[in-house]
Amino acid sequence: MDIAEINSQFPAIFDVFFFCVGACVGSFLNVCIYRIPKGESIMRPPSHCACGKPIKWFDNIPIAGWFLLGGKARCCGRRISFRYPFVELLTALVFLALWAMNTPYVAFAGMMFSFIMIFCTFVDIDNMMLPDFATIGGTVAGFLISLMMPQIHGAVIPDAPFAASVIASGIKSALGIVVGTGILYWIRILGECVFKKEAMGEGDVLLIGCIGAFCGWQGAMFAIFGGSIIGALTMIPIVATKRLVLKKRGKKARADLDPENDPLAIPFGPWLAFGGMFYFMFVKDLIDMYFAGVSNAFFGI
Ligand SMILES: [Zn+2]
Repeated sequence: MDIAEINSQFPAIFDVFFFCVGACVGSFLNVCIYRIPKGESIMRPPSHCACGKPIKWFDNIPIAGWFLLGGKARCCGRRISFRYPFVELLTALVFLALWAMNTPYVAFAGMMFSFIMIFCTFVDIDNMMLPDFATIGGTVAGFLISLMMPQIHGAVIPDAPFAASVIASGIKSALGIVVGTGILYWIRILGECVFKKEAMGEGDVLLIGCIGAFCGWQGAMFAIFGGSIIGALTMIPIVATKRLVLKKRGKKARADLDPENDPLAIPFGPWLAFGGMFYFMFVKDLIDMYFAGVSNAFFGI
C-alpha cells in the first residue's frame, strides 16, 4: 500500500500521526532549548523537576501532561511554565500543517527547518544570542537537504537526469545563503553607523543564512523585510508599555547605563525565524510570483 491508498482507507491517519510526532519533537525541543545553552547534556539526566525528583512518564506526556497536572509539578507543587505545552502544541500544529499542505519531501524538509527555527526562536528569547552550531549547522543542513530534495526549491527539472535538479536546487540554496547573509550584513553595518550601537547580532546574520538555505533568496528577503515589519508592529506597543512601567519604577536610568542588561532590548532572531517559517508554509508561491513580476518589470527577464 502506498501513502495515497492508506490515506483513502484511513482518512486523516497521517495527520494525527504527524501531530503526535510534532508534539513529541516539541517536548524534545523544550529539553534542547533549556539545556543546550547551559552546556548540559540533552540525554542525561532524564527529565526531572526543579526540586530534583524524576518526572513520571505519564506526567511527561506532551501537551496533555501540563493540563492534567493543572500546570503544577506532582512532586512539590512548583508551577510549570506554560511555555512547555506551548512549544509542544506549536510544533505539533506546524508539523500537521506542513504534512497536510505539502508533498511528503517538502513536508519532511519543512519539519527539519521548523525544528531549527523554533529552537533558535526560544534560545534567542531566553539568552539574547544564537549558538553557532544551530545557525551555521542549520545553514549546512539546509544546503545538504536542498541537494537531496530539490522539491523544496521547486527545482525538479522534468525529463532531465536527477543530477540536473540537484545542481539547480543547490544553486537556489547557495543563492539564498549568500543573498540573505549579504543583505543583513550590510543592514547591520549601516545600522551601527546610524544608531552608534549594535543594532543586531552576528547570530542574526548567520540565522538568515540558514533561512536562505532552506527557502532561497526570495524567502531570505521575505524573512528580513516581512519579519522586521511584523516584529515592529508587534513590539512597538509592547516596548512602549514596558518603557512606561520602567519609568514609573524609575529603572530607566539604570537601564541606560547598562546596555548589556537593557530590559528593552528585543532579539531580532525570532522575527527572522517567524518570517522564514511563514514564507515556507504559507506565502512561498505568492512571494516568488511577486519577485518574478518585479524582475520582469525592471529587467525584462
Ligand atoms: Zn518537584
